[in-house]
Amino acid sequence: MSGLCMQAFAKINLCLDILGIRPDGYHEVRMIMQQLSLFDTVSIRKTDEPGIRLFCSDPALPTDSRNLMVQAAERVYEHCGIQGGLRMELQKNIPAAAGLAGGSADAAAVIVLMNRLYELGLSGEEMQKIGLRVGADVPYCIYGGTALSSGIGEKLTPLPPCPSCGILLVKPEKGASTREIYSAWDALSDPFRPDVDAGIEALRKGDLGLLAKSLGNSLEPVTRARIPVIGEIREAMLSCGAEGAVMSGSGPTVFGLFPDIISAEKAGETLKEQFPDCFVSCAEPVNRAQPSS
Ligand code: ATP
Repeated sequence: MSGLCMQAFAKINLCLDILGIRPDGYHEVRMIMQQLSLFDTVSIRKTDEPGIRLFCSDPALPTDSRNLMVQAAERVYEHCGIQGGLRMELQKNIPAAAGLAGGSADAAAVIVLMNRLYELGLSGEEMQKIGLRVGADVPYCIYGGTALSSGIGEKLTPLPPCPSCGILLVKPEKGASTREIYSAWDALSDPFRPDVDAGIEALRKGDLGLLAKSLGNSLEPVTRARIPVIGEIREAMLSCGAEGAVMSGSGPTVFGLFPDIISAEKAGETLKEQFPDCFVSCAEPVNRAQPSS
């Protein structure tokens, strides 16, 4: 087997609640994760010369050990006690630093692909453990579909799939640093808490209206204080027919749930005039990402 390739899917958080900070500094979370149809493409192949080399379609992204793909490959080599040469390619479509876990999805894809390429025989749990050393969202990106993520992101439980809908995403121009947003949350005395159980109940009932009402993100007030346009985007989505809208992850991307793709596209046409970084997606019901040669 000389080379393998797979799609690395973006995610949104339908609900993101922070329960507190652990003594080691990590945040204890409870999040409803949903994979989107938006993806990067990751390919890897063995090379004769040792070392890890990454080529990326987006020149703004680092290709050295700051890139989560390189970190993931290093962790796999370390964990399995193997050495080798690897050439990786990344076709980037997921906006970076947007709250869509683009980097984590790419890292997850590297772990899954290396497992196959080197015939390592790692189980899903083992791959998730390696992934957690790269980032808290990586285990979920390996797991995929609709899931409840808790602990620091390592405890994953499957949930019923998101009801059929269209998802409109709008990314403000200004980015948000995950680290900075979480530290600002630490300073809050009375943070906003979304009702995650109501979100789970809505998924169980397959009720889009109920799910839309349960959307919530503890970090949204923090990021919105720095990027006020987040509030404007949310209002604009609701007035264009979204059943509900909220920020994803640490932001700044805001997504809205619409009854179908066509209504999401229509709203996108309207919002594009004011917010150019607008795209329509839909929910991936299960993790269908598989390596292909
Ligand atoms: P999350 O939702 O998990 O908080 P995010 O979508 O906000 O993640 P990423 O797209 O993963 O953020 O990127 C965050 C930072 O990580 C960027 O500033 C970028 O320079 C760096 N980075 C490292 N590797 C990658 C990668 N493969 N793709 C995108 N960004 C990467």
